[in-house]
Amino acid sequence: MTKGKLLRPTVIIYSLMILSVIFLNYSYAFAEKIKVITTSTDLKSITELIGGDRVKVENITKGYQNPHIVDAKPSYMLKLNKADLFVKVGLDFETWSQLLEDGARNPRIRYGSPGYVDASIGVELLDIPMTKIDRSLGDIHIFGNPHYWLDPINSKIIAQNILEGLIRISPENADYFDENKRHFDKEINTRLVKWLEKMKPYSGTKIIAYHKTWPNLTKRFKIKIVDYVEPKPGISPSPSHIANLIKRMKTENIKIIIKEPYYENKISDFIASKTGASVLTLPTSVEGISGINNYFALFDYIIDELVNTFKEQGISTND
Ligand SMILES: [Zn+2]
Repeated sequence: MTKGKLLRPTVIIYSLMILSVIFLNYSYAFAEKIKVITTSTDLKSITELIGGDRVKVENITKGYQNPHIVDAKPSYMLKLNKADLFVKVGLDFETWSQLLEDGARNPRIRYGSPGYVDASIGVELLDIPMTKIDRSLGDIHIFGNPHYWLDPINSKIIAQNILEGLIRISPENADYFDENKRHFDKEINTRLVKWLEKMKPYSGTKIIAYHKTWPNLTKRFKIKIVDYVEPKPGISPSPSHIANLIKRMKTENIKIIIKEPYYENKISDFIASKTGASVLTLPTSVEGISGINNYFALFDYIIDELVNTFKEQGISTND
């Protein structure tokens, strides 16, 4: 037997030992993280900012897809089955997720359990219907406007709901999460001052929007959505609605149409061709357009795009 052959088993044993140490460390680190599933990319981003390196977060809907119509894939039931925390937008935003929640068979994340977070709790909702409306007639937004994350101030309430959920299931990390939440609020406050400053010259500008995604955004930044391409949320426009819209835009000199990336361009482009308006496609969520990787970047992008389009159209409402 040569010396080399004698050494070989020792080398193998050492290698196996090293590998198992690496593996154990890896699985320990992995197992340590709190597994969070969020329905949206915005909730994912905020959860990551509060949970830091103690969480592993996955989202269900993509930032660029229509969040009202989601294919509830069985693969998400498996993910939800293993989740420690589940975070939803709430209201009637994720009617599709009930199937997943039922199929997940995970009592830790069921409604009312410590691992269940409805991010809308405590948010002052807009567009609460004055009369009874009915989902069976195609109505959506039946409890108020569910796109509330588009007001940066609401993100502090969303983050508070997530913080409380994280502390419920991982109280030993409470100080760490609290510190991240303080940092998050500070960052929002600082950036909001800059965003408001940029939008100030356009205060009161009238615009048209495609879907009722934007009331929280436009209320915060003081621009006015006077009409929608959709006559009601989720309902396609009739030719007479489009004709009326064109007439109104001409009469009131409205030069901007904002739309979501997941609605087709044809109708907005047609209206723009008749009125000289600009069509501005704005992301409604993190990752709605590539490069928008977190909640802060979403507003950096939206505000800059709005300002650029107002400038292009020669709009300024302030003296
Ligand atoms: Zn909607």
